[in-house]
Amino acid sequence: MSRYDLAVLGGGPGGYVAAIRGSQLGQEVCIIDKEKLGGVCLNWGCIPTKALIKNAEVYNLIKHADKYGIDVQKVKVDFKRNVKRSRDVSAGLSKGIEFLMKKNKVKHIKGTGCLVSKNRIKVEKGNKTETIEADKIIIATGARPRTFPGMEYDGKRVISSKEAMTLETPPKDLTIIGSGAIGVEFAYYFNEFGTKVHIIEMMDRILPNEDLDISKEVEKHFERSGIKISKGIKVLKIEGMKTKAKVYVKKNRSEEIIESDKVLLAVGVTGNIEDIGLESLGIETKSGSIKTDQFNKTNIDNIYAIGDVSGPPWLAHVASAQGHVAVEHATGIETTPIDYSNIPGCTYCQPQVGSLGMTEDEAIKSGFDIQVGKFLFQASGKAMAVGDTRGFVKLIFDKRYGELLGAHIVGSEATEMIAELGMAKALEATWDDIAMTMHAHPTLSEAIMEAALDAQGCSVHQ
Ligand SMILES: Cc1cc2nc3c(=O)[nH]c(=O)nc-3n(C[C@H](O)[C@H](O)[C@H](O)COP(=O)(O)OP(=O)(O)OC[C@H]3O[C@@H](n4cnc5c(N)ncnc54)[C@H](O)[C@@H]3O)c2cc1C
Repeated sequence: MSRYDLAVLGGGPGGYVAAIRGSQLGQEVCIIDKEKLGGVCLNWGCIPTKALIKNAEVYNLIKHADKYGIDVQKVKVDFKRNVKRSRDVSAGLSKGIEFLMKKNKVKHIKGTGCLVSKNRIKVEKGNKTETIEADKIIIATGARPRTFPGMEYDGKRVISSKEAMTLETPPKDLTIIGSGAIGVEFAYYFNEFGTKVHIIEMMDRILPNEDLDISKEVEKHFERSGIKISKGIKVLKIEGMKTKAKVYVKKNRSEEIIESDKVLLAVGVTGNIEDIGLESLGIETKSGSIKTDQFNKTNIDNIYAIGDVSGPPWLAHVASAQGHVAVEHATGIETTPIDYSNIPGCTYCQPQVGSLGMTEDEAIKSGFDIQVGKFLFQASGKAMAVGDTRGFVKLIFDKRYGELLGAHIVGSEATEMIAELGMAKALEATWDDIAMTMHAHPTLSEAIMEAALDAQGCSVHQ
């Protein structure tokens, strides 16, 4: 039996960050994963989808090249190569994580792990079994796409994000159930490559967790680009047939059947809590996730759970941050719990969305007397120069002290721009701090400064 100070079960962004941090802190560490290192994020989530979306953006730019005075003739899409680029990017990054494990002297064990006691993990490796012993254990087994009764995947007509990102040809028509980040990213991607996309959303707007103005803006541009959106729709069941899929829906009292080539189910995720020994050890779970405290410790003293398996927000950067906190706490060094009021959330469709903190509605409901500052990219010189003036920056401040409560950006580079506001919020910046911070000209980020000025009634350029 091999012995370690720290064993990490799951090699996604939560797990591998925890393993590296553990090694940096002088721990003897092993990481166990049944698949490629990098988890969903590098192999089937964040990275491959962003590679596909970049391909779609390049195609979009070429289609509209005449706007920039460039005539492009005979454009041909090789969809298989589009997918291959995405798979190659993932494969390269996963190898990079293997290299990082070696560099940090973390032992990589390939196999399926299950906790058999509070200090032991049994690892199935094909027809062999290895038991490892560890003082501290971090569970980072991630999550998988959710299903509901009557709404199950068949992998052919009714697909999840995993199949969607490896389709060799774009479907003729595609119904997407759910309009969170994953649903709208695939809507953008397939629409660009000519698929007739129909989004079905149960709530009264797409991207329902975003600020209302953001949802409206993305919806407006999606509809202009030909994406059909149906809101307030309840899906009753889905049937995958030989040549098409049928979605049975209900709106108010009327029922309807929507037919399409394929259906993409994007209705959230559920934690991988099964078959990892939680029940026998009495590790507490809640609604498909492992329950933890502010340092990601479970109800068992030496066992921590991080990332998607420990519940929302299901984001790679949250998993990694939790990896740091959990290991530092487990090894007894001082650490700071995560501030969950300052988590950036990004959606990589075009126009992109980047947001953090409270929406306008949440701030009002929390009792704040708010002041909103807004700046439209229509009035930004840089946005005009690059040829994309869609969207805006919307900042929400507490009127009393001018403190930043929430930031919401929709526009071509929103996912890069939001970082500045995360720093501002972490440092409890006020509207003055943001407005008086000189922003280079011409940049899209000048819109942030202008939005802060607007909150004080003195925006210059609109
Ligand atoms: C299509 C898609 C797009 C996404 N885009 C983004 C994005 O743009 N930005 C973002 O922040 N997040 C995004 N996410 C979410 C992100 O991928 C997850 O939040 C992140 O991967 C969670 O990391 P994790 O370490 O908790 O688990 P995971 O990345 O899920 O890794 C868990 C690992 O545990 C392993 N494992 C599970 N059980 C066992 C076992 N019993 N034994 C051994 N190994 C096991 C798995 O093989 C896996 O490698 C996306 C997700 C999807 C599906």
